Amino acid sequence: MAKKLTKKQLREKQAVEDKKFKKILRNGALLSLFALILINVFYTHWCDTKYFIRKHTLYGKKIMPELVCEAENLLKYHESYGVNIDDNTFYICSSKCKHYIVEHYEQFAFTIDAQSGDSICKAEAILGLKKKGSNLIVYFKNEETFEKYYNKKVR
Ligand SMILES: [Zn+2]
Repeated sequence: MAKKLTKKQLREKQAVEDKKFKKILRNGALLSLFALILINVFYTHWCDTKYFIRKHTLYGKKIMPELVCEAENLLKYHESYGVNIDDNTFYICSSKCKHYIVEHYEQFAFTIDAQSGDSICKAEAILGLKKKGSNLIVYFKNEETFEKYYNKKVR
């Protein structure tokens, strides 16, 4: 003989199932939140790691201007972009930095060769790191001063 559930029993059964379902939902939400935090932490640290590696491995090498803000003379965390100012392409990280160059061209577009002390335009310079592990950028007018600065053998 099949057991028939009374209305009361049926309601109770439904309540238990509802609870289970809510629990699954809650756990799912918690899990997604946890995953989101993990991804965030990973992403942040990946950038940190990449930046740390660059500051150490790029010393003594020519640095692509896309990694530098030429207004701030800094190796940047995120890629910079080129802007054409007075027929020269400068790499900057923000519109604020573009403003620096536009408004104070003499001060920001030019710098001195870190080795020879000659005045050079940043747009035509070779870029390098000032120190290993530092994010400060120095500029060179040619291969020769570049190589000398890093104590490399000059041909
Ligand atoms: Zn900048």
